[in-house]
Amino acid sequence: MTFEQLGLSPALLQAVQEKGYTTPSPIQVQAIPAVLTGKDVMAAAQTGTGKTAGFTLPILQRLQESAPLKPHRVRALILTPTRELAAQVGESVNVYGAHLPLKSAVVFGGVKINPQIAKLRRGIDILVATPGRLLDLHGQGEVSFKELEILVLDEADRMLDMGFIHDIRRILKLLPEKRQNLLFSATFAPEIRELTGKLLHQPVEVEV
Ligand code: AMP
Repeated sequence: MTFEQLGLSPALLQAVQEKGYTTPSPIQVQAIPAVLTGKDVMAAAQTGTGKTAGFTLPILQRLQESAPLKPHRVRALILTPTRELAAQVGESVNVYGAHLPLKSAVVFGGVKINPQIAKLRRGIDILVATPGRLLDLHGQGEVSFKELEILVLDEADRMLDMGFIHDIRRILKLLPEKRQNLLFSATFAPEIRELTGKLLHQPVEVEV
């Protein structure tokens, strides 16, 4: 299997090549076409499997394919449990999106909020966030989800372990009903099943 065969656009193939990847990993082989269909996806994948590219590449492609109502509004939201993971995912979005005219930002707690606000005000297509800081920013009127098309919960099991379920529920209430949902988790424990049952609509299940 090659990245070309997965249906990725030339801009993304170029980024993947520059990154030095020759072959898609098993999670990428399954997740990329599934996400490209626009359906909800639930994927069991540990860190180190290449899961980040597994959702980032097809998200970038979907955003590239459809023109937004207004430029640089938050169209994809990626929630992560920790600032370290948020920073890593943000870096992947930058690398894979290097040849696309999309803008991204990473927001997390424990650092000053004002630089994050300044960045959001300049316009963002893809926002990577930890739940608490995202709610703060929304509470201050600095982020709108009116144009949101795609939601990702990355490492959903860790988010629940860290007690983020209430924040996640609050965030879900702020999002448009019609959207694509992607959930990545190392395990599908009963608590995760409960969340996926509420969050995902007829998801494609991916497991490696
Ligand atoms: P992740 O599981 O998303 O944290 O990725 C783990 C590591 O694998 C990262 O350092 C990626 O840069 C790398 N990686 C992701 N996809 C591939 C691939 N298809 N070929 C080689 N390395 C990859």
